[in-house]
Amino acid sequence: MSETGTGSGHVVVIGAGIAGLAAAHRLLARGARVTVLEASGRVGGKLLPGAIAGVRVDLGAESMLARRPEAVALARETGLAGRLRPPATATASIWTRGALRPMPKGHVMGVPGTAAALSGVLSEEGLARIGRDADLPRTEVGDDVAVGEYVAARLGREVVDRLVEPLLGGVYAGDAYRISLRSAVPQLYQAAKTHDSLTEAVREIQAKAAAHQQTGPVFMGIEGGVGTLPLAVAESVRARGGEILTGAPVTELRRATGGWRVVTGDRVLHADAVVVAVPAPAAAALLAAESPAAAAELRAIEYASMALITLAYRRADADLPAGSGFLVPPVDGRTIKAATFASRKWGWIGDEDPDVVVLRTSVGRYGETAVLGRDDADLVDVSRHDLREATGLTATPLETRVTRWTDGLPQYPVGHHARVARIREHVGKLPALAVCGAQYDGVGIPACVASAYAAVDQLAGDLGGVEELTANPVQSLHGGAGE
Ligand SMILES: Cc1cc2nc3c(=O)[nH]c(=O)nc-3n(C[C@H](O)[C@H](O)[C@H](O)COP(=O)(O)OP(=O)(O)OC[C@H]3O[C@@H](n4cnc5c(N)ncnc54)[C@H](O)[C@@H]3O)c2cc1C
Repeated sequence: MSETGTGSGHVVVIGAGIAGLAAAHRLLARGARVTVLEASGRVGGKLLPGAIAGVRVDLGAESMLARRPEAVALARETGLAGRLRPPATATASIWTRGALRPMPKGHVMGVPGTAAALSGVLSEEGLARIGRDADLPRTEVGDDVAVGEYVAARLGREVVDRLVEPLLGGVYAGDAYRISLRSAVPQLYQAAKTHDSLTEAVREIQAKAAAHQQTGPVFMGIEGGVGTLPLAVAESVRARGGEILTGAPVTELRRATGGWRVVTGDRVLHADAVVVAVPAPAAAALLAAESPAAAAELRAIEYASMALITLAYRRADADLPAGSGFLVPPVDGRTIKAATFASRKWGWIGDEDPDVVVLRTSVGRYGETAVLGRDDADLVDVSRHDLREATGLTATPLETRVTRWTDGLPQYPVGHHARVARIREHVGKLPALAVCGAQYDGVGIPACVASAYAAVDQLAGDLGGVEELTANPVQSLHGGAGE
């Protein structure tokens, strides 16, 4: 084994998903020397651009929340400002009770301010049950509670099963009766602590949002795919002297004099500091030797697997309903959990080839393994079956693609915030090491980027301060011995 890279200001980032790359990008801006080690043969992790029938599409994440700044700002910083694109339509449907129904407006993660907001989606009994919220005594939520449990106690199960569940499922591929209110919908958790009535609390949240109305789209995509964001960040990292090695799984991470010893293949790197930006099971394996307690907590984080089925049709054959697609509540017993009319939702996909229409369905939720055991052809068949039932689409696709995301999304069950606090406490005892990624403070792309920046801030403290690194970037850049 060769030992390289001793010196000051050398940071090794483990994992080149969006979190690891964002950390590398920020570290370089602060003058550190950076090496990113990625196990797979490509950068990007759950962000993956691809193509079907000659049309560029996303085969992984496809949309970035724009109401928080981090992801869109990173895209701008890495040269993608001119390719940011809002969705072409903001309307969507919900496929429930035998029909496609307009997605209600005026709710917070499916929780309405009034019963009327959900008319059409819920049965008459379901709507009537919402009214009881005003008369019920406050529901205590304690340190945390499952979203489904709390909302069902206030408004009845139908709100959870027909609206909250598919909306939460769209983000976490999880189960509303397990997911943490505190971690997944913190606004509602805070409201539950201060209000007796949940609908009153939602109306207050809506009034505040209206008063501080943010302009601009809620979500943003990127022409060519959100999957091009990690490519742009990686290019920017390399352009500023950062090194990114793919096919370089880290197999050992040990404390060493003045830093860390990082083993990948037959190489041993010395790092003054390390950012661990890999999913929880991999992070557990890497931290097991130096922090068994952190590793045990990380091992307890569960994941949901899913598959995306992308289908391309001749435009003349695919007469779709209006809107960007639809969600499917599990209670309706269908196989797909959502369908996106990609060519409608993203104008740039529609423009790629005017004769081609691209759709995508998703299958698989937390604990639902049977459906993912089906082969690709079967997943295409069930998608076509459900699409036919929902939209009347009978045409044969030009091309199909199945993309499997095994252990794609970390689950945030009740008590997740406490587990993350314990992980941070254990990791905090290790000098010059920080963790980031989807399993800590949010699964969305902006949250992953934010967790990367927080990790860099933490290291800046360990390495002697941000200002110092920023003030003398040349010294920091060349402070370490070459690879
Ligand atoms: C199908 C799907 C659709 C999604 N859609 C959206 C969406 O539309 N909008 C949104 O905001 N979010 C979406 N998400 C969530 C979001 O994409 C992810 O949470 C986020 O990309 C995770 O980034 P990350 O860097 O934390 O982890 P990852 O992307 O998992 O990256 C971690 C990297 O670490 C590498 N690695 C693992 N072990 C090692 C090791 N030992 N050594 C070196 N490298 C290692 C992996 O190969 C991987 O490249 C979606 C997720 C999935 C699965």
